[in-house]
Amino acid sequence: MICQSTPCASYRPPGFSLLVTDTMWHETSGVQKSAAVTARVTGTSAWFGGQSTSGEAGAVQTGGPSGGCIAAEKLDLPVDYESLAQAGSIMGSGGMVVLDEDDCMVDVAKFFLSFTKSESCGKCPPCRVGTWQMYELLEKITSGNGEEGDIEQLEKMGKLVVAGSLCGLGNSAPNPVLSTIKYFREEYEEHVRDKYCRAKRCQGLGSFRIRPEHCILCGLCKQACAFDAVVELRDKFFIDQDYCTKCKACYGVCPTQAIVIEKGGAHVAAGK
Ligand code: SF4
Ligand code: SF4
Ligand code: SF4
Repeated sequence: MICQSTPCASYRPPGFSLLVTDTMWHETSGVQKSAAVTARVTGTSAWFGGQSTSGEAGAVQTGGPSGGCIAAEKLDLPVDYESLAQAGSIMGSGGMVVLDEDDCMVDVAKFFLSFTKSESCGKCPPCRVGTWQMYELLEKITSGNGEEGDIEQLEKMGKLVVAGSLCGLGNSAPNPVLSTIKYFREEYEEHVRDKYCRAKRCQGLGSFRIRPEHCILCGLCKQACAFDAVVELRDKFFIDQDYCTKCKACYGVCPTQAIVIEKGGAHVAAGK
């Protein structure tokens, strides 16, 4: 937690901004990491830096649930209202969440929109209905049912909610969605076109396969599978694609990372 004195006139309002570093995202997902934000204040500017056990910070989400996600290559910017706004985010509550390559940016947007959707008081339709419809579209995309045009529809609805809402909640609620589409559109397109989540966060995406050379025949995946998709033969296990619902239950229990989630038949990543 960093308290930043703000004598610079570019800050509005003057006073103090509380920058809260947060590993919440990883903790709620059950993955403990050493992710951290550091801010070095030099005159009027602060720089973010991040690290995690699995690599570099991929993005920083600023401003609380109504804030936006800023891509790693854009992080070298002053922590002031104008700079964050230009980057597609806000100062907001001052909260910051470091995200890395193990975080799905579509799922991140859905997580934050779920909060603002619930907080909408319902007085004006663009906020009340728009945030709900945007959330449903994100749910559709992250569950593997995305269709061509869904991303464009999200952008269109986000802009309508911003323009048509009466107060700041609705004006800023689409920020997580619009900013992640702006900086991480490729991830959205992978979900929709390839039915694939590169972070392996979303269920219902990818193709599951057991690598025999890494399998110790423990049978845990078969026990975990509620759909009888894991087939046991005399000397190996394999996944019957006709029965696999891509629920990820086997992926999480395999002790040897023998189960991989593939995109279009190519090996992509080992299970955890
Ligand atoms: S924009 Fe504000 S007033 Fe309108 S529904 Fe949302 S929270 Fe209520
Ligand atoms: S992803 Fe789910 S349905 Fe598919 S094999 Fe694994 S546990 Fe079974
Ligand atoms: S849990 Fe992993 S190691 Fe055990 S049988 Fe399944 S694929 Fe093989």
